[in-house]
Amino acid sequence: MTLTLADVTLTYPDGDGRLTALDRISLDVPAGTLTAVVGPSGSGKSSLLAVAATLVTPDEGRVVVAGTETAGLGRAQQAELRRERIGIVFQQPNLLPSLTAAEQLQVMTHLSGGSVRGARGRALELLDAVGLADQAGRRPHQLSGGQRQRINIARALMNDPAVLLVDEPTSALDHERGAAVLDLLVALTRSRSTATVLVTHDRTHLDRADRTVRMDDGRLTVPEPV
Ligand code: ADP
Ligand code: MG
Repeated sequence: MTLTLADVTLTYPDGDGRLTALDRISLDVPAGTLTAVVGPSGSGKSSLLAVAATLVTPDEGRVVVAGTETAGLGRAQQAELRRERIGIVFQQPNLLPSLTAAEQLQVMTHLSGGSVRGARGRALELLDAVGLADQAGRRPHQLSGGQRQRINIARALMNDPAVLLVDEPTSALDHERGAAVLDLLVALTRSRSTATVLVTHDRTHLDRADRTVRMDDGRLTVPEPV
């Protein structure tokens, strides 16, 4: 299962005209591989993730998530696809202050209509996979920034997504912790067979990615010499 973007164009209203945020982007991300996306601020990286996440509908082009053509889906079906097939990690962890680490993950199952209690085992397994087995009972204020970002990543994997979309997860972390998060993402991509897209500012660890592409002014240039 893969993520495919084919000739995707996205524009936003801009004064009297339109701003082209994505200009005929094509990208294929096979399962079990991680594609890093670099490029200057405002080049369209987050827009690329938003389209891949079906949060934004492109003006033109196709987005195929794990074999499903998203263009034909209604809003409710898109929301279901997002919940069940797509894991999204935003820059800020957005954890709920009153919940423990395990509960942050169990909530995801609740949102998909599953049993919170039944999700406990999977939550603990995923916390273990991100190196936080011993922190399951802690609340966000008792955890470091790096630990919170790991919970954020584990939470995105709770529903066993085919596609994992990650927007600048290391920008709030120091260099060493950033490298550890990247290593973790590569390991999870392999072990969970996700098609992973990682937007990153941190250019120093790009050799860990299977491929690096670059965004410039809405256009994708591939591949970038390492
Ligand atoms: P990046 O993540 O690389 O910084 P973005 O995808 O956030 O880039 O933005 C790409 C371009 O689209 C920028 O010029 C930005 O100002 C514009 N843009 C992003 N989101 C919106 C929006 N919701 N409405 C209008 N313009 C937007
Ligand atoms: Mg961005």
